[in-house]
Amino acid sequence: MQARNDALRWIQGLAKEHKNAAWISGESSAAKHAKVAKPFAIINPFNGEKICDVVESSREVVDQAAAAALHAFTSGPWPKWSRGDRVTALNKIAAEMRKHHHELAALETLCNGKTFRESFDDDIPEAASVFEYYAGWIDKIYGETCPVEKGFLNFTLREPVGPCGLIVPWNFPLLLACWKIAPALAMGNTVVVKPSPQTSLSMIRLAEIIHDAKILPPGVFNVVIGGVETGEALTRSNDIAKVSFTGGTDTGRFVLKGSAESNLKAVTLELGGKSPNIIFEDAKNLEAVIDRSYQATFSHKGEKCSEPTRLIVHRSLHDKVVKGLVARAEKTRCGDPFAETTTQGPQCFEAHMRKILDYIESGKHEGATCVTGGTRDTSPGCEAGYFIRPTIFTGVKPEMRIFQEEIFGPVLAVTAFDTEEEAIKIANGTRYGLAAGLYTADADRAIRVAQKLDAGMVFVNRYGCYDFASPFGGFKQSGWGKEMAIHSLESYTRTKSVWFSVAPN
Ligand code: NAD
Repeated sequence: MQARNDALRWIQGLAKEHKNAAWISGESSAAKHAKVAKPFAIINPFNGEKICDVVESSREVVDQAAAAALHAFTSGPWPKWSRGDRVTALNKIAAEMRKHHHELAALETLCNGKTFRESFDDDIPEAASVFEYYAGWIDKIYGETCPVEKGFLNFTLREPVGPCGLIVPWNFPLLLACWKIAPALAMGNTVVVKPSPQTSLSMIRLAEIIHDAKILPPGVFNVVIGGVETGEALTRSNDIAKVSFTGGTDTGRFVLKGSAESNLKAVTLELGGKSPNIIFEDAKNLEAVIDRSYQATFSHKGEKCSEPTRLIVHRSLHDKVVKGLVARAEKTRCGDPFAETTTQGPQCFEAHMRKILDYIESGKHEGATCVTGGTRDTSPGCEAGYFIRPTIFTGVKPEMRIFQEEIFGPVLAVTAFDTEEEAIKIANGTRYGLAAGLYTADADRAIRVAQKLDAGMVFVNRYGCYDFASPFGGFKQSGWGKEMAIHSLESYTRTKSVWFSVAPN
């Protein structure tokens, strides 16, 4: 496949040209830090073979990136740029990403394992579009005039926050980073982005693309590479004014700690989920409901934060729904994520696959019934990869680990209910509150239940809608703050209140 070959050719040149490391002020830091370089091997989850090494960024490198972002924010040409210049820059980034659509999609698939179709059709077009969306907002952010006492004029200014540390996970590597980069740059901030090391190639490539196209002044867009240590260095940097974090709930606590123990930088958190999907007895068009529920749960091989991993189905429909889901699961074809016939790629890395398998064992051990899957897929072509068959458990009780804990893989827990009250109680019964769905033909019930579900996003009669214009983010231990729409822009600005005495005294 041409896209994969192009991506592999670029990867071969990476180490040779010393570009497989942090990008600071438009330059790769690999050559500069060659003597202290700590390699991280990126493994292809489809065959277990090494793709290449990237160089982890030490604390010193993170400090350099943060200092470059601070310098560009305070003294570079960037703060003097007009709004129009920023609009042009964001639109150019989108255009360059589209120009490199095939290659970026191939890099995502090589490192993450999701099918090329998912990377190509979903992730890269969305990642490019979000720059255009936020380019359109740049001249539409207003302050207020405040109704204070006579003799004064009081108004607010919306200012950029400063250098922002953007930390993202490996499941939608480029897309989730662009959700943060686009609004941050739109509001005039500078950024230091930290992807997960396993999926860092697309971000390194984006840094190179932005540099080659001369889109941004030096220091505005920086990338650091690495895992826990690199992330901690970024959250603890005194040059960073804000961290926007997407990742696991427990890691989110470390991010908060890093902020609390350094300069109390602002923090937004998009964390884990264990979202419920309720099917009431009057749900219309059951086949479509089953289709959508299957897709929402198992696409991107179940590695999605808002996927509905707990299906709460009315007892009268239970057997029919489970039968439909099992039939779809059994048709799933694991295999080479670049092959057109493949419908499910490998899990992103080996340790993650093992964690999912442990959860599957815990479900069996705790007494749930595994009605399909429950094992690795080692069919021809899959032997060396990190494949897990789509797995469905029935008879899942609220106290079981597979009901309470985020598995982040192709594993669905099904629980039957009898009354609306019971369904709501089951749905709200975890520490998470990212998303929730419900299917019913009764509009009164839909509104009543949507109001009672303790989740940041509620989907009625179609699970998993998403649009840049609608806020994205969770309640409870699924996070703080919202992304998308005006909400991201608010989180990348600070509000200054200016008092103006009409008659000086
Ligand atoms: P993770 O928490 O392990 O890692 C996320 C990022 O944080 C990575 O870049 C990682 O290197 C970095 N990191 C790790 N330890 C750190 C530390 N101590 N300080 C600072 N940074 C650190 O998560 P993951 O395994 O990469 O991703 C899966 C998790 O992400 C799931 O819980 C999933 O639900 C969540 N997620 C949430 C959303 C959302 O929008 N709510 C979206 C996607 C994924």
